[in-house]
Amino acid sequence: MTSTQPTAPRILTEEEYELAYERLTRAAYRNGSRLGEAAAHDALTETLAAVGVFIPAPDPEPDTCTARYLPHDADEFGPDILGVWQQCEDDPGHEGDRHESGEVSWPDEYPGALPAAQ
Ligand SMILES: [Zn+2]
Repeated sequence: MTSTQPTAPRILTEEEYELAYERLTRAAYRNGSRLGEAAAHDALTETLAAVGVFIPAPDPEPDTCTARYLPHDADEFGPDILGVWQQCEDDPGHEGDRHESGEVSWPDEYPGALPAAQ
């Protein structure tokens, strides 16, 4: 018997993320590279996503719907978007039960979806 129930993605806590970030930048420095914040964040996002672990959701940008979604299925998303949090670009409080980031569309009940803040 197989389960078709989707499982929630494994998402790091802020503390775990900060620890991983510190270790990554320290190891890079030890090897003669200074990783900038954006490069370190990008490296962590992609490296962790490759093994099914994901970074915490960033704070939502203001002025649009605050629903967010984590593309976490490696069968569905390529490496450029896997593990990269998406935020809905529609107006706050928009109608309908789907959200749209420009690259991904999702309903609130998807695993990895965070509903809009009320
Ligand atoms: Zn939305």
